[in-house]
Amino acid sequence: NSSTKPPPTPSPLRFSKFFQSNLRILVTGGAGFIGSHLVDKLMENEKNEVIVVDNYFTGSKDNLKKWIGHPRFELIRHDVTEPLLVEVDQIYHLACPASPIFYKYNPVKTIKTNVIGTLNMLGLAKRVGARILLTSTSEVYGDPLEHPQTENYWGNVNPIGVRSCYDEGKRVAETLMFDYHRQHGIEIRIARIFNTYGPRMNIDDGRVVSNFIAQAIRGESLTVQLPGTQTRSFCYVSDMVDGLIRLMEGEHTGPINIGNPGEFTMLELAEAVKELINPEVEIAKVENTPDDPRQRKPDISRAKELLGWEPKIKLRDGLPLMEEDFRQRLGIPRKN
Ligand code: NAD
Ligand code: UDP
Ligand code: UDP
Repeated sequence: NSSTKPPPTPSPLRFSKFFQSNLRILVTGGAGFIGSHLVDKLMENEKNEVIVVDNYFTGSKDNLKKWIGHPRFELIRHDVTEPLLVEVDQIYHLACPASPIFYKYNPVKTIKTNVIGTLNMLGLAKRVGARILLTSTSEVYGDPLEHPQTENYWGNVNPIGVRSCYDEGKRVAETLMFDYHRQHGIEIRIARIFNTYGPRMNIDDGRVVSNFIAQAIRGESLTVQLPGTQTRSFCYVSDMVDGLIRLMEGEHTGPINIGNPGEFTMLELAEAVKELINPEVEIAKVENTPDDPRQRKPDISRAKELLGWEPKIKLRDGLPLMEEDFRQRLGIPRKN
């Protein structure tokens, strides 16, 4: 029967597992915000070897400086839109700019990163028999017509808008993941990440939490984009990393929402930053950008049930944890 699929080629890595017990883990985009925190956590386990590939578009070597030179760590300058040959057991595929000002800067490149980059990582996963996790996004729900968003919701995404390179790019990346899973038996995991914040966020990437914290430290007005009643749910980065690792280690493909269900308007967020970081700053209302989703809040029942995961850090506890890191990078020490 000509339609019978040939048996999968035995991978050299599977063979090498007889001889070594270390787990070799590839993290694409590992020099970025979430990626570098993930690397820190993975490196804590002495059985893990970590390889990071990154093109440094929005990430930096600085985020990984404590690991450079470590015998279980390797850093490779590489763009995931080009093929990559490495031998690994697991792939955390994060490479992709996450902030609107960066992903809109070169939208065609953003699509290539999501589509060709994910295709390459799936081709790699297929060749070596690795398990692959994609960091997808709550943006696949677009400007959602269901609230809160469950994984079964298909989304309300503008296919031709200025955010589409990212939203539709991630949607195709998810499709590719499932097609490689169904067609080639690849072990996949998909996390739908909701807004995440913490130390090492890019200071000037225009995201709301990093903007407000930097503004509060500089003594500038907090720029709430109109109408200010739009909502987001913010997850502290250590909770996020914990969720991603549980998803990778667990038995479920996903997609699974990983985020903090605490929902805040942008005005409430500004009030909290003002109170916690600098009560003297003012709150200013400014113009918004097109296609801004009006509300966003994850339903995390699936993560709770299937991964035993839920976030531990509340927004009011997480915000102050960013202050010291931002002050150091801005060169503005705390008074007194
Ligand atoms: P980030 O911009 O800090 O990190 C992305 C990393 O990918 C950077 O180090 C960047 O240099 C690298 N990169 C970008 N394009 C690349 C390419 N073509 N080849 C190789 N490396 C490339 O962003 P982040 O916040 O750490 O986000 C990480 C992942 O999580 C992304 O996939 C993002 O879409 C997803 N995500 C993040 C959030 C969030 O709130 N931060 C929300 C939803 C989804
Ligand atoms: N690929 C890669 N590293 C590998 C194996 C494949 O980057 O170790 C890339 C490869 O260049 C291709 C993509 O992954 O563009 C998809 O690979 P696959 O084998 O699924 O498809 P094909 O090469 O048959 O088009
Ligand atoms: N926002 C804001 N002030 C800023 C930056 C952003 O009020 O200085 C608002 C923005 O309009 C959006 C929300 O904060 O409603 C989250 O924006 P961000 O770019 O951080 O993330 P995303 O839109 O991707 O969720």
